[in-house]
Amino acid sequence: ETNLRHALERNELSLNYQAKLDLKTRAITGVEALLRWNSRYLGSITPTQFIPIAEETGLIVPIGRWVIKTACAQNVSWQQQGLPPVCMAVNLSLRQLMNENLLQDIETTLKETGMLPNLLELEVTESMVMHNPAHFIPILSKIKNIGVRLAIDDFGTGYSSLAQIKNFPIDTIKVDRSFIRNLPQDLENKAITEAIIVMGKNLSLTVVAEGVETKEQENFLKEQVCDEMQGFYFSKPVEPESFAELLRTHNDNFKNQFN
Ligand code: C2E
Ligand code: MG
Ligand code: MG
Repeated sequence: ETNLRHALERNELSLNYQAKLDLKTRAITGVEALLRWNSRYLGSITPTQFIPIAEETGLIVPIGRWVIKTACAQNVSWQQQGLPPVCMAVNLSLRQLMNENLLQDIETTLKETGMLPNLLELEVTESMVMHNPAHFIPILSKIKNIGVRLAIDDFGTGYSSLAQIKNFPIDTIKVDRSFIRNLPQDLENKAITEAIIVMGKNLSLTVVAEGVETKEQENFLKEQVCDEMQGFYFSKPVEPESFAELLRTHNDNFKNQFN
């Protein structure tokens, strides 16, 4: 906690970027910003270790503000380098979503960085928002109204009432990677994933599969007409320069293939 308090001012935080791929065309359509902490005293700490502490202490609010700003500035910088525009996904925590300055912070960041609102997608988890729809639907609607996209992360692991989901102003659901594991051999995961894809499609949502690690998983998801995939099979989260290179070379090859 003490070290985390100084992480921002000591420049110990950084973002890695993981590509999202259109399953039909294999073009990179988006990217998720993932926070990394390399502490001077503790070495590198994973987000699953430090985010809960940041959340408990409230440090996630200034850290999260830095994440949105850095991710938006990075996205604009890639476009200025001539790279094709891609949607930038950023994770939000519960504390951030409860913070009364969130909307203002997002608007200020968009204005200051010159980022188009519809290129930003904020990810919230089901367990964060679904237990109190009356409280969170208005907050999410305000974010949606400024043109920012919304996604439900780790879908299937919370306690979504399926009746509730249609009331949330969301664009995307991300199928949790625990369901993607051992596809298509695992018959239970197969049944769950198929059902989520069909439901998402019928609600006109973009369905993204998380944690795709093999060709077999990609083939299966493609057959099920899942929209997008993210996972180590195509790319791990990488540093900004590596992502720019990936975007340049991958989408160039892809263009040549079709021209
Ligand atoms: P998430 O948002 O669901 O992000 C996906 C996680 O799955 C990332 O872990 C990513 O590295 C990992 N992953 C992606 N593809 C694969 C794969 O094929 N196989 C496996 N085994 N793992 C894969 P990471 O970066 O350790 O982040 C963990 C969690 O920490 C994130 O889950 C998110 O909930 C949280 N997090 C990360 N960055 C931020 C942030 O800036 N703010 C907040 N509030 N939370 C963040
Ligand atoms: Mg996420
Ligand atoms: Mg996830």
